Amino acid sequence: MGRLVPEFVVDRLLNVTPDDIRALSPGTAAVCMDIDGTITDYHAHSVPEDAQERIRSFGESGLLTFIVSNCSGSRVEEVHALFDSLVTGVMTPFDCLNPEDSRDSATRHRKPAPDMLLAAAARHLVTDQTTALKRPLRPAELLMIGDQLFKDVLAARRAGVRAVLLPRFGTRDHLGVRILQRPAEVGWRAATRLPVKARDWPSRLTAVRVR
Ligand SMILES: [Mg+2]
Repeated sequence: MGRLVPEFVVDRLLNVTPDDIRALSPGTAAVCMDIDGTITDYHAHSVPEDAQERIRSFGESGLLTFIVSNCSGSRVEEVHALFDSLVTGVMTPFDCLNPEDSRDSATRHRKPAPDMLLAAAARHLVTDQTTALKRPLRPAELLMIGDQLFKDVLAARRAGVRAVLLPRFGTRDHLGVRILQRPAEVGWRAATRLPVKARDWPSRLTAVRVR
């Protein structure tokens, strides 16, 4: 595995446009999105109207759309209720459980495991441009958008999926993430010359130059 850096950065989901995806990541067929800190504030009970419009714009431009969220417990049902009608598919760790393996647990499918991304790709057939035959999506055709380097970007890296990193949307965080992970993210971003301060994030999708 190379250095843990995303392929792209941007300041917010609303500034990721279908046109910029096509221009900068032309092989992308599906957009995968984290929820907390990416689409909504942490554990929000509704989806902002402008975010819904942005997600619909991906679909209207011909891109498939997936939710890839580490939710658990009662939040799983809530996430499905919020997003099932808005996207192509909703993936939670629970949705990756193998019904034939009684020892399987949702915990092992959480990001940074690549499982949800790989399952989203494997379960959705697309028509191959060359052969005109139906085939599963390839991981390289997915673009993962998320706010956590050590979850979203790392899961994408492990799955062979391209990643977009953006700064946390909203004001709240899981306590463990706030205390342990965010300071480490800032240090890692500084060390790899990714945006550090709020003003550093570009307002359009921008390719990261690997140094
Ligand atoms: Mg998040």
